[in-house]
Amino acid sequence: MKPLTEQEIRASFVNCTKGEAKRLNVPRGLTDLPWEDLDFLGWRDPQAPERAYLVAEVDGRLAGVALRLSTGGVGQARRSMCSLCVTTHSGGVSLMVAPRAGKAGQQGNSVGAYMCSDLACSLYVRGKRDAGPGARLHESITLEEKIERTLANLATFVAKVTA
Ligand SMILES: [Zn+2]
Repeated sequence: MKPLTEQEIRASFVNCTKGEAKRLNVPRGLTDLPWEDLDFLGWRDPQAPERAYLVAEVDGRLAGVALRLSTGGVGQARRSMCSLCVTTHSGGVSLMVAPRAGKAGQQGNSVGAYMCSDLACSLYVRGKRDAGPGARLHESITLEEKIERTLANLATFVAKVTA
């Protein structure tokens, strides 16, 4: 993806207040991130581990989504699959919950999905980060197709948040 500035990141959020978007912790060293290997930007708040964020380009527009890790406990140790990049980890997948944008979110509606806990889906898809043995299914599709699938899954998730 195209490298993003802190300003672009803060301006992209669709499901939190302007004040929250202004205060949230953006990743350190933005200019040093491996942007060419990223399909979307995802990170955990280093100062609040239960908070996570992602910024994706959907239909030519940036959409930032604020997430919370659901700490239900159950299933944490089980192998589970990321719904975005289809990587299976032992304990490396978390249920992320996003308040819906606008009125629905204010009324407490949210959307949940299982995602890689470090939101590094782009790197798992490319084999640049290892999720352990048996993490990826043997698939006959190309890397481009896997990237497209990840982006399509992400677009579906973002659409549910903004619907
Ligand atoms: Zn993933």
